[in-house]
Amino acid sequence: MKLAVIGAGIAGLTAGVYALQSGFDVTIYESHSAPGGASTSWRRRGYLFEGGLHWLNGSSPASSLHKIWRDIGALDEQTPVYNRDPFFVVDLQGRRACLYRDLEKLKDHLLTVSPEDRREILRLTGDIKKFAAVDMPIGDLRGLKTRERARVPLSFFIKMIPAFTRFPFWSGRTVGEYAKRFKSPLLRELVSGLVRIDTSALSLIFTLSTLAFGDGGYPQGGSLGMALRIAATVKKLGGTIRFNSPVDRVLIRGGAAAAVRTGGLEIPAAAVIVTQDTLTAVDSLFDTPLREAWIEKMRGNTRPMVSTFISLGIEADLSALPESLVFSTGKPLLCGGREIRVLNVNNYAAYAAHRPRGDSDYAPAGCSAVTSLIPGDSYDFWKQCRENGDYGDEKRRLAENFIEILGEIWPQIRGKIAVWDVATPLTYERYLHSYRGSYMSIMEKGIPPVYPVKSGSVKNLYFAGQRLIPPGGLPVAAETGRRAVQQLCLDTGAVFQG
Ligand SMILES: Cc1cc2nc3c(=O)[nH]c(=O)nc-3n(C[C@H](O)[C@H](O)[C@H](O)COP(=O)(O)OP(=O)(O)OC[C@H]3O[C@@H](n4cnc5c(N)ncnc54)[C@H](O)[C@@H]3O)c2cc1C
Repeated sequence: MKLAVIGAGIAGLTAGVYALQSGFDVTIYESHSAPGGASTSWRRRGYLFEGGLHWLNGSSPASSLHKIWRDIGALDEQTPVYNRDPFFVVDLQGRRACLYRDLEKLKDHLLTVSPEDRREILRLTGDIKKFAAVDMPIGDLRGLKTRERARVPLSFFIKMIPAFTRFPFWSGRTVGEYAKRFKSPLLRELVSGLVRIDTSALSLIFTLSTLAFGDGGYPQGGSLGMALRIAATVKKLGGTIRFNSPVDRVLIRGGAAAAVRTGGLEIPAAAVIVTQDTLTAVDSLFDTPLREAWIEKMRGNTRPMVSTFISLGIEADLSALPESLVFSTGKPLLCGGREIRVLNVNNYAAYAAHRPRGDSDYAPAGCSAVTSLIPGDSYDFWKQCRENGDYGDEKRRLAENFIEILGEIWPQIRGKIAVWDVATPLTYERYLHSYRGSYMSIMEKGIPPVYPVKSGSVKNLYFAGQRLIPPGGLPVAAETGRRAVQQLCLDTGAVFQG
């Protein structure tokens, strides 16, 4: 049975692998020339810029998600995973705090930095321990035929009970609101530096417990390496990935998905899985935009996560500096019409010291690749720049402003910039065809919604990808890719094989 998958991001590749294993004849259509979607890296003049993965949930074999990464070839025994520690360092005018993975070390360090925050620190480290038991249940859909059942035993949920009692606390406030509980500005910045301040504090405590218990590592080759490994699994199983093949229509006949159109050709398919951002796909891929209750709910409830991403190639050796740093600046960075006074940098020269043998070089010898993610929905600003003809100039101005600010804390980079690169929300929109160039959703307070993987109005049409469970990210992409194939197997009577 012919299955067309739209998109070779992590959701599309995951769906491709499981569908092939379950006996479908799979073609993945990808508009870009490489796999990975938002999970990607790129080279500029000898520098490799890691533009996606900063931590991978499920990198630890103890996590239930790990099985998916192993099933699809994202991780294997030969792929080393690096757990950076400290995960990041905050520097406010020379005063430093570190986010250590080791929980006891973290507690002692935080108490030294700010003894007056003792109560809050003990509560935080206690909750990190409780949330370590919270895991993503990777089960099977009810009624599914499988070769090997993925059981989620009752004990899986029972061990989460202590964390559940703390859910109302963490889901009832944003990270910014939570940070205000600390008296120390340094600790406030530390708890705000991991996930965005306007996101639910639930995503902060999940991430902290992920890091504290040996998960959330960086696999060899980073995001592109991981995508290429999954793409290799697709090919090994006999699947086809057609790059440079944007799909502009899913054709519906007799109320069922019947074909996809790319490059003017209509290619018949018995089923279609759409992994383009659901929010844009439902409007752009069909003759008549899809209107279903869950889609309207998603449209009304989604706040897209949008950023601007700056990369620098620097002819200086920064390997002795922190790998990941959050710092305050004297002069603000002007990005997207906003003044930003706290910035983050990822320093891949420091990573190179720990890099496993065989991993790519991130920079020429003695040089350094540095990246920075500037959060904030600046989509309209950049769109206006493009309409005014200022887009290129504004990108240059931003890069120069950033270089000047970074030069204040790291003077050795002054005059040493070999290359800069700025990816704006318009860049992400162009590559991903996503809503406002977003690659995740902001997780709101409360319990996040879970959207279906199957259309209610069109037969044989399925969805997968980051938008289906806020906040999205790689775990959601992979889990929904797997679930969409399970739904397809359930509908067709096929035996799901993972
Ligand atoms: C800077 C950055 C850092 C991140 N860090 C992390 C992290 O540390 N951990 C984490 O878990 N997540 C992280 N994420 C988020 C994560 O990368 C994404 O949420 C995830 O990769 C989304 O996967 P997806 O397959 O759902 O969607 P996408 O990656 O958007 O994939 C969709 C694919 O479909 C293709 N496509 C779209 N429309 C069409 C069409 N009409 N025809 C053909 N092809 C089409 C696109 O080119 C793309 O390849 C990060 C993202 C960014 C940008």
